[in-house]
Amino acid sequence: MSERLRNWAGNIEFSAARVHRPASVEQVQEIVARAERVRVLGTGHSFNTIADTDADLLSVGGLPADIRIDAGAGTVSVAGGVRYGELARRLDADGYALHNLGSLPHISVAGAVATGTHGSGAGLGNLATAVAGVDIVTGGGELVSLRRGDADFDGAVVALGVLGAVVRVTLDIQPRYRISQHVYEQLPRAELDAHWDEIASAAYSVSLFTSWRGDTVDQVWLKRRDEDAPAPAELFGAVPAAGKRHPIAVMSPEHCTEQGGAPGPWHERLPHFKLEFTPSSGEELQTEYFVARADAVAAFAAVERVRDQVVPALQISEIRTVAADSMWLSPHFERDSVALHFTWVPNHDLVLGAVDALEAALAPFAPRPHWGKVFRHAPGYARGRDFAALAARLDPAGTFRNAFVERHVLGE
Ligand SMILES: Cc1cc2nc3c(=O)[nH]c(=O)nc-3n(C[C@H](O)[C@H](O)[C@H](O)COP(=O)(O)OP(=O)(O)OC[C@H]3O[C@@H](n4cnc5c(N)ncnc54)[C@H](O)[C@@H]3O)c2cc1C
Repeated sequence: MSERLRNWAGNIEFSAARVHRPASVEQVQEIVARAERVRVLGTGHSFNTIADTDADLLSVGGLPADIRIDAGAGTVSVAGGVRYGELARRLDADGYALHNLGSLPHISVAGAVATGTHGSGAGLGNLATAVAGVDIVTGGGELVSLRRGDADFDGAVVALGVLGAVVRVTLDIQPRYRISQHVYEQLPRAELDAHWDEIASAAYSVSLFTSWRGDTVDQVWLKRRDEDAPAPAELFGAVPAAGKRHPIAVMSPEHCTEQGGAPGPWHERLPHFKLEFTPSSGEELQTEYFVARADAVAAFAAVERVRDQVVPALQISEIRTVAADSMWLSPHFERDSVALHFTWVPNHDLVLGAVDALEAALAPFAPRPHWGKVFRHAPGYARGRDFAALAARLDPAGTFRNAFVERHVLGE
């Protein structure tokens, strides 16, 4: 054992016999070619055993970032281990932007797209929808390039590390833009049901934070582009916050990106948390389920019916929207989605009780869990069989499998 690693939350100790940090693509190829079993680790921000293995664990975080902007093609290509925060700074400095970001800029590009990581925005797909190409070191050490439009592409981006190590990702870019962030408080719960669609599309990106207690939703964050309609003086009864807010009331808002409506660079407003600070609470587990956006109001009621099991384990919930896409293992595959997120206290037993209650309550809506968060069952991934066939073709020896993907994806 050369190194004992834990994930960001500290709830998973990786059981890898060996940890590799290659500095070149050739070294990645050599390590994979020699390995019997290998898993790739990004920045370790997932909350379950998705990246774990008892054999070889490989991080591509040591490859040179090698950020290449192709203005003509409207793309940037970057090493897979680069964090979004670093990529975003470079893009912005050169006059470019991505369509969206997750709540934190700390995660690696390849690790985030591998699980279908998303931000919010009724018209915005998850981060993987910006991927135009991936370069993957597959079992045996072969370097395979797949581009949007290739037959296997829709199976190969949200791929949970099953097809190989993604050493390079090409992403769509657009001219840089500005975002202003407005926080509203105390949205009457009944107004959310009555005006769900209007609230979810009230800005380029909208996030709601609720503790599922009482008759109000705690906070609504509107992230507006300059060209969007002006921020309203009041949002269906919710009023502008008097000062800066953290989604979890007891935490310092210092960790959060600028609020109060001052416009700023896209990458300093789309994430909720600043790159230099610990995101979220730091002492937590997380769970998230996606159901059809059209079922949102019924799903809110379903969550409230199991409030007694959910609330004792909860720090805060976040509600976001994600546009449908065509990627087989995407939680948003062919379904405009509402994301029901739960930031839990770091108590595994309490959390699993809440997760069981939620999975039962949401079952009528065919919920799909976030691949990188705590869940029990992952039904409803319609193209799982096609994915298993693709995995068998690109990785016939099963080099990149682990117990997590065998249980939840490959069905063994
Ligand atoms: C505080 C916090 C906030 C979060 N906020 C959000 C959010 O706003 N939206 C959201 O959707 N999720 C969110 N997440 C979850 C997080 O975005 C996902 O778990 C994401 O996959 C983590 O990326 P990572 O680089 O840490 O990947 P890891 O957790 O290290 O790995 C995740 C998966 O990707 C694979 N992988 C990693 N790198 C590669 C590679 N180079 N090639 C092939 N496969 C690879 C791994 O094998 C594994 O299967 C949050 C997590 C935390 C801790």
